[in-house]
Amino acid sequence: MKGTLAAVTSLAGGLAALKVYDALRKPKPLNVHYLDAPTKVLVVGGGFGGITAVGKLVHALNGSEEVGAVLLDRVNFTTFYPMVPKVVSSNVEIGHLAHAIRSIVTPLGVDFNQTEVEGVNFEAREVLSNKGTFPYDFLVLAPGSRTAFFNAKGVQENAIDLKGLREALQVRNTIIDRFEDAQWARGNHDDALLTFVFVGGGPTGVEGAAGAHDLIHNVLKPDYPDVDFDRVRLVLINSGERILKEIDASLANAAIHRLASQNIEVMNDTKVTEIRPDAVVLADGRTIPARTAVWAAGVEPGVLVNNLDVPKDARGHVLVDEYLRVKDRPRVYAVGDCISIEGGERLPALAQSAEQEGAVAGHNLAAEIQGNPLKPFSYRSLGQLVDLGSTSALTDILGVKFSGIVGEAVWRLVYLKELGYNLNRAQVLADWAIDRLTRPSASKLYEDPPTP
Ligand SMILES: Cc1cc2nc3c(=O)[nH]c(=O)nc-3n(C[C@H](O)[C@H](O)[C@H](O)COP(=O)(O)OP(=O)(O)OC[C@H]3O[C@@H](n4cnc5c(N)ncnc54)[C@H](O)[C@@H]3O)c2cc1C
Repeated sequence: MKGTLAAVTSLAGGLAALKVYDALRKPKPLNVHYLDAPTKVLVVGGGFGGITAVGKLVHALNGSEEVGAVLLDRVNFTTFYPMVPKVVSSNVEIGHLAHAIRSIVTPLGVDFNQTEVEGVNFEAREVLSNKGTFPYDFLVLAPGSRTAFFNAKGVQENAIDLKGLREALQVRNTIIDRFEDAQWARGNHDDALLTFVFVGGGPTGVEGAAGAHDLIHNVLKPDYPDVDFDRVRLVLINSGERILKEIDASLANAAIHRLASQNIEVMNDTKVTEIRPDAVVLADGRTIPARTAVWAAGVEPGVLVNNLDVPKDARGHVLVDEYLRVKDRPRVYAVGDCISIEGGERLPALAQSAEQEGAVAGHNLAAEIQGNPLKPFSYRSLGQLVDLGSTSALTDILGVKFSGIVGEAVWRLVYLKELGYNLNRAQVLADWAIDRLTRPSASKLYEDPPTP
């Protein structure tokens, strides 16, 4: 208890210091409305790439009265995706992992419009949306990606796509539903009821499976006395030779041991061809009886990018040059999960690459407007973090590696900083403190039955 309080106090001190640092870095806002501006910049997508591009652009333009900007997004919030899987097991409130886009861009003198972008008319320099057209002189495309299902049947109908905060909550609530059924059945049920299959051996699948383990064994167990927890089966399906293939082998091994100690079965070199309501079908013909399947097996460009008339690579990513300008489309930049640098290294679909690209695109766009030289993009990996559930995480920061409880402390510190907004930081810090002192709540909030 004393240790927890000391940790919370020092983290709160750190937050106050960050607040001062943020205030000192504040850029001068743009001083003209987008619609009245002689030069209009339009950004599609308020995620890691788009928001960073806007910030960098405003910083470089230093209170411009010539350049106005607007950001368009289908939702009015930006999501801190790295902590999405954590929602499965902890008390962290989903609202604390999102931030209103308007409250980020308004202080920068940038407008926001919540709209579904449907296409771009590059000749007319217009973005087409379900709310009409938006003119631009310069465009930044940052619409991210969507989950890839690799032609497996029944995934959208019968599995949960672990993409965002709502889906993480759906995983949590579905697991709780299974235990409600199992408690009532008092052992008289099939194996599928308490089998939970996670598809995808990358960080999201691993974190999801570890979170499900925590929820089941650390949170639910005391409340379901008539459930035989030895009948719980957690399976992680991975198409490659080993899980976490993008991560240093020694850390991946630590994860493999951790999952084994939790009785999470890892099936390597295994592909899923179909998900049925009560089974997961594998490419070699085997089936796993399971009523709960969670999909976290990769990403691909979404419909907007598919429909854009721009050069793309074989995987459908927008081709950009080293300055992040879209090939053959003057005055258009693209960043984040949806791009591929022509002739360059393959960029990982990560928040850190989207942020680095957003910073360079924002800088270059301002430089192009001001007639200054552009700077080429080069990706620098800052490391990787993987949460393995209660009191364990893997962290590799600039080559310095930690696992176990130390890894978890580093994971928390890094994500607290990366959360980016002081309100979110304070809220998540409070959630973690409550988590330490109490067992997380198992009520299925946000899923009220419809009133008759
Ligand atoms: C569950 C999960 C866990 C992850 N964990 C990590 C991690 O631990 N570490 C890490 O580095 N990365 C992680 N990632 C990956 C990281 O989140 C992405 O690489 C990053 O978000 C990409 O940034 P982006 O700007 O390209 O796209 P996003 O951040 O996805 O932003 C795209 C924005 O565009 C909007 N948009 C898309 N299409 C349209 C449209 N047609 N009209 C209007 N708006 C549109 C979306 O609403 C969204 O706000 C995780 C991803 C997921 C899904």
